[in-house]
Amino acid sequence: MANYDSINLTSKSILHNNHSTVIIGSHSKLLDDDDEFDQHSDETLRLIKSQFSTRKNNKNKFFYIRKFLTYALCILLLISIFSFLFKQNNTVKDKIVMLISIDSFTPRYLNFNVTPTISSLAANGVRAKFMEPVYPSSTFPNHFSLVTGLYPESHGIIANVFYDTSDNSVFTYTNPLDANNSKWWLGEPIWITAEKNNVRSATCMWPGSEAEIQGFRPSIYEKFSYMDLHTKIDKIFSWLDLPDFPRLITLYIPEVDSAGHTSGPESQLVKDNLALVDKEINYLLDGLKYRGIRENVDLIIVSDHGMTDTTGNYLTYCLEGQHGFNPEMPDMHAMFIANGPSFPKNVVLEGFKNLEIYEMLCNILSIPAAPNNSTAFFSTSKILQNT
Ligand SMILES: [Zn+2]
Repeated sequence: MANYDSINLTSKSILHNNHSTVIIGSHSKLLDDDDEFDQHSDETLRLIKSQFSTRKNNKNKFFYIRKFLTYALCILLLISIFSFLFKQNNTVKDKIVMLISIDSFTPRYLNFNVTPTISSLAANGVRAKFMEPVYPSSTFPNHFSLVTGLYPESHGIIANVFYDTSDNSVFTYTNPLDANNSKWWLGEPIWITAEKNNVRSATCMWPGSEAEIQGFRPSIYEKFSYMDLHTKIDKIFSWLDLPDFPRLITLYIPEVDSAGHTSGPESQLVKDNLALVDKEINYLLDGLKYRGIRENVDLIIVSDHGMTDTTGNYLTYCLEGQHGFNPEMPDMHAMFIANGPSFPKNVVLEGFKNLEIYEMLCNILSIPAAPNNSTAFFSTSKILQNT
């Protein structure tokens, strides 16, 4: 409105310069002074006519300026309302959590300098010096501890292969029938807690995600297969493009582990596969940016355990079982990197047990956690933000 006033003032002064003493400032005086009126009546009438015409033109001008300013004001108001609503949606309502496991990625692999994307996520987010696996430090017990916050004795997956003495049955991690047999999978994995609380979840090959647990399953679950990582990420993109996209997504990546088993943890094959995984994580980030949701996504990259060189010690390795080493051994340390709206930048944490992850995920998704063995490390240390 300030602009409108100043335009009015300007127009008044223009009228003043054009004999407005007669027309505007002294209108009543003009009618009282008969002599002057008679003497100059013709000229005055002409002036009055021309001045009224100027006023009329100016009035029209004001009308359009006023109309224009009102519209502009309305548009500005609408833009600010929409941007406010949009901001609300992006920061809280649509937060997406992605839990990614790179099997056997141990923190010292970052020193190979072949993972620029993962290193940059760590530098711009939170990294733990190490994450301690549970015993035994093998793939299935640890993957299920990560998502339940429970020790293996409580979640039931006590090894990659084990006997059930009550009915002489055997659990074998490579058997698809055991993957979806509810009798083995106890506790409450994060996707079940999510579904119970109306948060849609999607799993891409996480141990235990194919089984029905407490009558629930993830909204979307991709069964285990030897699908390449690029295709897995395209699958995740297709889920994110759904109108009712999942807000919790898990992804399992076995490439680094298989290279470590074939060629040893210091091998060129491990380095090549680390570089390949890093390239695909970058592809994932590009896809999130392209969809305009990168700022909504908490990426949490973990591993189940590390890997130690067993060359020349094959017998010990077999006796220990796959990764069945002491979880406190530095070689067996797992990784934790988190980057997204729930995490501060440039923070390095001391080591903690992988039992903390389940409750941390519940905190981020603002859902109540089922009973678990966490020490509430993330909530007491106040690391999380915007939750
Ligand atoms: Zn593993």
